[in-house]
Amino acid sequence: MYEPDIEMMELSDIRKLQSERFVKMVRYAYDNVPMYKEKFEKAGITPDDIKGLEDAHKMPFTVKDDLRQHYPYGIRAVELDKIVRLHASSGTTGKPTVVTYTEQDMETWNNLMARCYASAGVTKGDIVQNCYGYGLFTGGLGFHYGAERLGATVIPISTGNTKKQLMMMKDMQSTVIACTPSYALYLAEAAEKEGYDPKKDFNIKVGMFGAEPWSEEARKRIEDSLGIKAYDVFGMSELYGPGVAVECQEQAGLHIWSDEFLVETIDPDTGEVLPEGERGELVFTMLTREAMPLLRYRTKDLAIINYDKCKCGRSHPRIMRIRGRSDDMLIIGGVNVFPSQIEHVLMNIEGVGDQYLIIVDRDVLDSLHVQVEVMPEFFNSPEYDPAAFAKKLETEMQAILTVRARVELMVPGALPRSEGKAVRVQDKRKNASK
Ligand code: AMP
Ligand code: ZN
Repeated sequence: MYEPDIEMMELSDIRKLQSERFVKMVRYAYDNVPMYKEKFEKAGITPDDIKGLEDAHKMPFTVKDDLRQHYPYGIRAVELDKIVRLHASSGTTGKPTVVTYTEQDMETWNNLMARCYASAGVTKGDIVQNCYGYGLFTGGLGFHYGAERLGATVIPISTGNTKKQLMMMKDMQSTVIACTPSYALYLAEAAEKEGYDPKKDFNIKVGMFGAEPWSEEARKRIEDSLGIKAYDVFGMSELYGPGVAVECQEQAGLHIWSDEFLVETIDPDTGEVLPEGERGELVFTMLTREAMPLLRYRTKDLAIINYDKCKCGRSHPRIMRIRGRSDDMLIIGGVNVFPSQIEHVLMNIEGVGDQYLIIVDRDVLDSLHVQVEVMPEFFNSPEYDPAAFAKKLETEMQAILTVRARVELMVPGALPRSEGKAVRVQDKRKNASK
């Protein structure tokens, strides 16, 4: 562990610390961020009404649109001369959302990332090949400085240039790879094409994967093809970046670093706080963020939180598998489906390749069309019967997800590969209504 005193704190002590920090943070946000003063006034409360965690539900939420409305410099509690870093989220429409950091925020973030690496068993003797994109995206620099903080060697190769990635992986004998799970799948495929035998030529032992949802089946494929152990890391730019939560070696959920983040689960429709153990939208409060305080930030990510003590000795609560974001949920003919559930069904079937694309359209009724690549060995084998295989995939999806889908089998290599976050869904209904 990187910070055992904090990581092994009893849950009751974590709660006490959270409560103290929460009360202080509420006052700080009210005094220094005009937006929060307004929000409090609208809700008819003052910081005096917040005496501890038990009062958290009285506070108004913060949403992504609040950040957009405070473009360019965001929700800021300090003067610009105290800001040492700025990142921005991709934002597919309109302006990006900007997040800022003071020196103290950078300290906190780097330490959290160092804890994440250590939680996956990474040590200062490791060589980390960091293939997250360097730039405005928080992934690149987040994983970079966390590895440096731990004392490991970082190769700041960034994303793309796959042939060079593979060459460096072999020549430098990198022991850790950090990238999106979809890029890991692509690297494994490319390695084989380039004539490498990952288990013999490479020395990678650990993968630090995150920034997008991925299924257990994808994890298994990455682990098997690269001969590594794959760990899940969760974060988002609004909450510093990566490093909010991470799996430990038990791999039974992602520990949320709760000395820094207070998490609640709410019903996404009503905003009501849900009882422990129910799946809902994750809402985070940053407990010490200096530059950009965030109180009760609605993430749209849907998950269950587990408060049981983990076998690893950490009592920080765990996010059980993240199903996806509420705004990624597809409603097809009245049935709710997450892309991650479709991935789960497909990748469980032998012969299905690593790439797929979900296309949703509306003619008279909603239609779900899934393009699925076939594994090269299966594609070239005499047993491959395209009509029967497509039917099999359609039947499985109908049986498990209760949606009717039309499966189009694709030649291996036909679908675009992703170097960062994969685009797995094309919802043509959204374009039509704009
Ligand atoms: P960004 O702000 O661009 O880093 O995107 C953050 C979003 O990526 C989160 O709100 C999640 O929806 C998603 N995300 C990040 N890490 C994970 C993960 N490990 N599993 C599932 N989704 C993730
Ligand atoms: Zn654990």
